[in-house]
Amino acid sequence: MARTKIEVPEGLQSDYTSIIVSYSNGIDSTGALYWALKHFDRNKIYLLYCDTGFEYPENIQMFYKTAKFIGVKPVLLQHPKGFLKLLLEERFKWPDMKNRWCTAYLKTGITDKWIRANRQLLGKKCLFVTGERRDESRGRAKLPELEYHSTTLKTKRVADFTCHWYRPCLDYEKGKMFEQGKELKLEPHFCYEYLGRCSCMACMFMSNEHAIENMKRYPEKIKPFIEAEIKLSHTWKKKVGLQELWNQCLDIDDIEEKEKGIKEKETTETNPKKGD
Ligand code: SF4
Repeated sequence: MARTKIEVPEGLQSDYTSIIVSYSNGIDSTGALYWALKHFDRNKIYLLYCDTGFEYPENIQMFYKTAKFIGVKPVLLQHPKGFLKLLLEERFKWPDMKNRWCTAYLKTGITDKWIRANRQLLGKKCLFVTGERRDESRGRAKLPELEYHSTTLKTKRVADFTCHWYRPCLDYEKGKMFEQGKELKLEPHFCYEYLGRCSCMACMFMSNEHAIENMKRYPEKIKPFIEAEIKLSHTWKKKVGLQELWNQCLDIDDIEEKEKGIKEKETTETNPKKGD
């Protein structure tokens, strides 16, 4: 639980000893990075990426490239089990809105653990920055700009450590985030060419059509998740299974293949090769 829902009465400070930007390669976290760079020395900034094990295969390389290009310290975090093993060995059911265990285990949990283990490196006063925007969802619309992060120590018995959580992009629209990325000379993630959001490759909260798009592009990466779904007899979404979408993909391919075949036949018939 990284959220405390406890307001910071003194407000945002200027003397943070370290800044952690939670980064996903997506456009909103690029906005969060943009804000951090405008307000703090980049020597203090850590770019933190959580690999859920359900990400685009290109993501880790993209993350390191961005950190190097911008000149901030990269921190790559990975849960020892990752999405698939957690699903198969511990959770046995796909996450849903009520039980979003993927975020809790694969992002929040490992981030908190890393912060707690690195207090000395981060100094006494840390700022955790994320890129949520209010117009993304009803839940996000209600988020506060600033609150205490759960890694804050209530007493100085163990150590003197405070962490504030700041969300600088809440009132921005998506277009603004693309502008800020452009200003930083960062290319938007390639998934925006065909998707509205940069999430896990087959996140349960994406549309079925978008999951199909990724299935077509990364069949081998998504296949083990379909096998897990079959093994657990629990579907990806309440009323839709990945297997069902996979079959739809095959149908689409069959249609495309058939159409291609018909077109080729027509071309041969209208332009017969000499000697045929
Ligand atoms: S993007 Fe979707 S699947 Fe991935 S961690 Fe977030 S909620 Fe879970």
